[in-house]
Amino acid sequence: MNILVTGGAGYIGSHTIVELLNAGYTVIALDNLVNSSRKAFERIAHITHKTVEFIEGDIRDKALLKKIFANYHIDGIIHFAGLKAVGESAEKPLEYFDNNVTGSLCLIKAAVAAHVPHFVFSSSATVYGPEAPVPYQETMPLGTASNPYGQSKIMVEQILSSTSAAVNNFTVTLLRYFNPIGAHCSGLIGEDPKGIPNNLLPFVTQVAVGKRAQLSIFGGDYPTPDGTCIRDYLHVVDLAKGHVKALQASVRQQDGQVHIYNLGTGRGISVKEIVETFENVTAKAVPYTVAPRRVGDLTAFWADPSKAQQGLDWQAEHTLEDMLKDAWRWQENNPEGYGEN
Ligand code: NAD
Ligand code: UDP
Repeated sequence: MNILVTGGAGYIGSHTIVELLNAGYTVIALDNLVNSSRKAFERIAHITHKTVEFIEGDIRDKALLKKIFANYHIDGIIHFAGLKAVGESAEKPLEYFDNNVTGSLCLIKAAVAAHVPHFVFSSSATVYGPEAPVPYQETMPLGTASNPYGQSKIMVEQILSSTSAAVNNFTVTLLRYFNPIGAHCSGLIGEDPKGIPNNLLPFVTQVAVGKRAQLSIFGGDYPTPDGTCIRDYLHVVDLAKGHVKALQASVRQQDGQVHIYNLGTGRGISVKEIVETFENVTAKAVPYTVAPRRVGDLTAFWADPSKAQQGLDWQAEHTLEDMLKDAWRWQENNPEGYGEN
């Protein structure tokens, strides 16, 4: 089967391509490299001994999409391409809506025109909104997002649901990720953010490798046992495997419906627990200060992952220690990431 992976050079996309190739799929990757490096594909080839057809380009380029669907018989799409920095999205809302919503719209239109039967979308736990009780369950309604990034995820979920209802044989899977961290155990691919990392783990590993002086923990006065925020961190390889399972389930079902799954561990971990466990498993110090809360951060949320366990036969298998060791191996072996930032 030929799978088009948009955003395939990125963090989650590159790990998912490894799992797709290992499972025997043929992968065509489309990425404009706005937040990634083509070197990821050399590393993927090293890990899997298989190659990926890489097309450098933008999901908003309608002529390019037409050409891709004419040249390849695409059996399924996994759509990762998007901008993902929450803070930046508030500063540049139009850029985020254009990239994430218009871009997705271009891709979905081209997919429907080419009669692609399976579409898997990278959504996020953020769509549950700040009012949702924990743990988050797929039966809960879409919430409101306080930033354009989260709003773009809600909008694309809605566009896909309406499209699936109107178009025959367009099976959609919405995967709501919690907090992916870690890296492939080879240490060859991992998270390589451009500029100052927004996310916790790349910041922690960059402090440990000496690239940054100290971590700021955003808020020490939350109503949690140690005062820091709680999230559901899962290994990026577990997340990648979830995409293969989702695709397999979509092919099995072929029902033209929308399927929604949380991909998380079901366990909440605090920021301080992350830092302490990282120090324990790597024997590297991570100096930190407790800084003011970051605007928009929720106190605590985690997944109810039981639907994915039952429906996809998927569950997160790596421990927190595995995630942190693997994140560190990637950073230690690649202090400058892919070396292009
Ligand atoms: P990433 O930035 O590493 O990967 C996204 C990729 O998409 C990059 O390679 C980028 O170059 C590419 N891209 C962006 N806009 C594009 C466009 N217009 N055309 C073609 N390529 C484009 O991010 P990631 O962490 O791998 O995230 C992948 C997806 O998962 C994103 O949609 C993100 O919103 C979603 N997601 C991520 C997280 C997370 O914590 N990392 C959590 C929930 C959801
Ligand atoms: N965080 C932090 N310092 C940082 C980055 C993040 O304390 O430099 C905290 C953040 O406040 C949140 C958690 O780490 O509680 C996870 O943040 P991240 O941005 O990785 O993911 P989010 O859950 O916001 O999508």
